[in-house]
Amino acid sequence: MKIFNCLFITFILSLSLFAQTKPPSESAMDRFLRYVKIDTQSAEDQATVPSTKKQFDLANLLAKELKDLGVQNVRVSEFGIVYGMVPGNLADNAKVPTVGFIAHMDTSPAVSGANVKVNIVKNYQGGDIVLPNDKTQVIAVDKNPDLKNLIGDDIITADGTTLLGSDDKSGCAEVMTMIDILRNNPQIKHGNLAIAFTPDEEVGGGIDKFEIEPWGAKFAYTVDGEQLGDISNETWSARTATVTFHGKNTHPGTAKGILINSMYAAGAFLAEFKNAIPNRPETTEGREGFLHPYSASMTEETSTIKILLRNFDINGLVGQEDAVKKIVADIQNRYPEVKIDYESKLGYLNMKEVLKNYPQLTDYAIEASKRAGVTPEIRPIRGGTDGSNLTARGLPTPNLFTGGHNFHGKLEFNSRKGLEKSTDTLVNLVQIWAERSK
Ligand SMILES: [Zn+2]
Repeated sequence: MKIFNCLFITFILSLSLFAQTKPPSESAMDRFLRYVKIDTQSAEDQATVPSTKKQFDLANLLAKELKDLGVQNVRVSEFGIVYGMVPGNLADNAKVPTVGFIAHMDTSPAVSGANVKVNIVKNYQGGDIVLPNDKTQVIAVDKNPDLKNLIGDDIITADGTTLLGSDDKSGCAEVMTMIDILRNNPQIKHGNLAIAFTPDEEVGGGIDKFEIEPWGAKFAYTVDGEQLGDISNETWSARTATVTFHGKNTHPGTAKGILINSMYAAGAFLAEFKNAIPNRPETTEGREGFLHPYSASMTEETSTIKILLRNFDINGLVGQEDAVKKIVADIQNRYPEVKIDYESKLGYLNMKEVLKNYPQLTDYAIEASKRAGVTPEIRPIRGGTDGSNLTARGLPTPNLFTGGHNFHGKLEFNSRKGLEKSTDTLVNLVQIWAERSK
């Protein structure tokens, strides 16, 4: 009986604590639905940052909303990066490190993000979701097992003709709603929070313009991950190799004994590559690295093949380079008249190399997820993030989930619960930083 009473009192106490949390002035879902209507698609190979001017439309809106929520030092840089600072509400804010939160505003160049028409499946009851304006676009249960966890949720998709823009307007909406909840609930204690929304994440380059020092964060999180619970403190390390084949061109009418066609050597290289390299994108997953020829240009005079090298183990990259060089040597032997050059350059390093020294970043995120009722899972990212760039530049930055799925395509989706639980996790996270840093 005593135990029962005790449990009962705890139950009432937690109910009253829960009741004390005031809702945000606008839900994460309503914010998200507004943001996805703004086209912010970035573009490859542009000389400017941001790569598309239209990204300023969302940047300026987010800056205004930050100011309306009382955020300080709000500015939009010439490169379209939105910065702001949420002051802490502790007796001594200096005791808690300033923690940063970053979401990116642009959407992938792969699929249009203009005139996004959202489709909301209310109270989802299971089964495949056929998108209304292109019935060939189907979010199938067998390819999206997480759908089984979303029964009763409101699922948000595009109409089948565009991407949704969950990547990463979910992150934008969640960070903004976290600030809204903190403003409405001064009883939630937190230190200073640095806020940023970035352009051009999808095409790289935006983050190079990020001003780390003035922003003021000691640690940061990108809010740009996928399904609920996915936390990433590891990306793979990346190099790009270029193999160049030098032939000798002349007019084909008078080419006898003179013409050396580099294309045959390049073709032989590709054929041999497929034989010799079993680890390719189409054959690997999880923590397996790969080698991937992704672009080639060929003329008689000069042919060039570009290759991605990706490995979670930094030493693994060395072995991959050796494998490519071995094929180069083999082809050089077979085509002595063609001169073959190999060069490579480092793209980014696995952020785990740095983040292993700051385990609290991941530990607090795990605890914050649990408090939101989300089961955390540490998942390495088969790609780079804005966080890998920032981590390499001295700002340790793991990546947190947003609830989103199927990024960069027409089957992209998120859900009300996905947005709300991700937001709750952020609110919990800033409290945990304050609790643990006393
Ligand atoms: Zn993203």
